[in-house]
Amino acid sequence: MANQDTIFGKIIRREIPANIVYEDDLALAFKDVNPQAPVHILVIPKKPIAKLADAESEDAALLGHLLLTAKRVAAEAGLTNGYRVVINTDADGGQTVFHLHLHILGGRPMAWPPG
Ligand code: AMP
Repeated sequence: MANQDTIFGKIIRREIPANIVYEDDLALAFKDVNPQAPVHILVIPKKPIAKLADAESEDAALLGHLLLTAKRVAAEAGLTNGYRVVINTDADGGQTVFHLHLHILGGRPMAWPPG
């Protein structure tokens, strides 16, 4: 797998600190360091998939697990009124960290369309 290490890899390996809210064998969730909403949590796979466009058929179960993890983390964060899940992908998607991640944004109404 031709993936570069990222800051999220360092978080997985506990080489840098993060406010981790959930972890299992496949996934990690932690608070975004620069929150864009009252609740802003990132869900990442431990497998270093750089971006959604690099995911393969063999990752189907993992991708499903990430969505179910997002649901779980959002519920645990008390987002009973709804929330948004975002995956920024590559340059035009606005991706800045090249380790696949789901943004969970909540605690306020979200606007549409996004910028
Ligand atoms: P994206 O633009 O979709 O690639 O999102 C990357 C996100 O990672 C941004 O929302 C950043 O605020 C967040 N981020 C970057 N470094 C850290 C870190 N060390 N801990 C938590 N979140 C981070």
